[in-house]
Amino acid sequence: MSGRVSDGTEDMRVPEIEVRDLYKSFGDNEVLRGIDLEIGQGEVVCVIGPSGSGKSTLLRCVNLLEEPTKGQVFVGGTEVTHPDVDIDEVRRRIGMVFQQFNLFPHLTVTENLTLPQRRVLKRDKAQAARVAAENLERVGLSEKANAYPSSLSGGQQQRVAIARALAMGPEVMLFDEPTSALDPELVGDVLAVMRRLANEGMTMMVVTHEMTFAREVADRVVFMDGGVIVEEGTPARVITNPAHERTRHFLSRLL
Ligand code: ADP
Ligand code: MG
Repeated sequence: MSGRVSDGTEDMRVPEIEVRDLYKSFGDNEVLRGIDLEIGQGEVVCVIGPSGSGKSTLLRCVNLLEEPTKGQVFVGGTEVTHPDVDIDEVRRRIGMVFQQFNLFPHLTVTENLTLPQRRVLKRDKAQAARVAAENLERVGLSEKANAYPSSLSGGQQQRVAIARALAMGPEVMLFDEPTSALDPELVGDVLAVMRRLANEGMTMMVVTHEMTFAREVADRVVFMDGGVIVEEGTPARVITNPAHERTRHFLSRLL
């Protein structure tokens, strides 16, 4: 208990994601230099910033694909950076979607969704198939259930990758430039799926250069440069009316 008296307007829940004073170095290269970030349940945070600013490293530290040099990360109140934590258990609770879709080419769409459920969650075949079908429907690809990834467009493959992550029942979803590898005409369908997910109340951390998406869907935009958060705020504030010259400079090059 904090001992603080709530006036009823404050949200007293623990944040879904909390990053405290996070540092990450690769050799002499200090890539994250003291990141503090809280993301509430159901909140959508878009992370923007120039190439090399540490955005991917931050996401990868949240689901322990990288081990932080210093600092703490909490997911749903559990300290995932604690040495005793079960990394597999943590990763089960965090869905991640990459720029490259990483589907298994020799498996059908359905098999791509059922394999991790069976291996990691130990679901039986029927249950895994049912959850796969539900999530393919969620991304609008029911009719591709028996197709192989190579027969799908990049946008469809990315939607399968999203469905595969969702089939694991994650508490939060991390997206690392999910549309950057796609032809422009395929970006919209992927963003539409992400927008629907946000509307359903999923907690999301999205690294993206899609400023229209950030403006319309994000609750908050975080601008990173040089391994620090330079500024954060509502999309209207950060994108439309940035306080820092570095943010202005970055945005001016995108437009
Ligand atoms: P962003 O996603 O913002 O483009 P990254 O987090 O990918 O930035 O990279 C930030 C810096 O960290 C870059 O200088 C990159 O070269 C370095 N870096 C990232 N991953 C590794 C790694 N596995 N080993 C060594 N250096 C890395
Ligand atoms: Mg990156």
